[in-house]
Amino acid sequence: MRKPVIAGNWKMYKTVAETVDFVEKIKPVAAQADHCEVIVAPPFTALDAAADAADGSRVAVAAQNCHWDTEGAHTGEISTGMLCDAGCTHVIIGHSERRHDCGETDEQVNKKVKAALAAGLTPIVCVGETLAEREKGKTEQVLERQFTEGLAGLTPADFSRIIIAYEPVWAIGTGRTATPEMAAEAHGFLRGLARRQFGESEADGVRILYGGSVKPDNIGGLMAQEEIDGALVGGASLKVDSFRALVNYPRG
Ligand code: PEP
Repeated sequence: MRKPVIAGNWKMYKTVAETVDFVEKIKPVAAQADHCEVIVAPPFTALDAAADAADGSRVAVAAQNCHWDTEGAHTGEISTGMLCDAGCTHVIIGHSERRHDCGETDEQVNKKVKAALAAGLTPIVCVGETLAEREKGKTEQVLERQFTEGLAGLTPADFSRIIIAYEPVWAIGTGRTATPEMAAEAHGFLRGLARRQFGESEADGVRILYGGSVKPDNIGGLMAQEEIDGALVGGASLKVDSFRALVNYPRG
């Protein structure tokens, strides 16, 4: 039985005060939502305040990125130790906006995943194809490369500590969602890769979230798919009402 995860990626939105207000309002929602894990990923400046506000509640706090070194001369970067110090339990790694805006490579994703695991954080590792790659029939090839290179060198025990997010790039922030069937097919493919690389029970246990224009009105169809274990949500996670509806997605 895989416990679903509903995670909000706030990207470069929300001040400290807005973050604390949101977390305070979502705590009672999470308290009633035993059916899933609830995670918010504020910007770096608000992580500490978010973790303080969420302390003792069912709301977990994720960062949106990390560096692989424990410390060093890396202006503008943040270490996994600093994220733990701020109260994070999770970190998003390899989001397509970082792959595309910052040129993040699979090799760097791999180093970040290992650093996060070493620090005791749960990595939420993002993979997904662009529209051009999908149209050229390369979706599986891209997912396989991102999965195998991004997770290279992990043991089955390491793998059992990560969460994967399938986020087709063409669906992120575009209002264009993958159909539940398309998403489930990609998730099934990723689970097959997990089976091959890490083993049967690890593949059965890994949570694979879908991300890409998930909204309160389409999450039900997505979550009805056996293969979809939750959602990583950008835009629709920014408003309390909308995030509440996502956490309380329709369940059969
Ligand atoms: C995301 O940022 O991971 C995302 C899926 O964004 P959106 O829900 O806005 O498409």
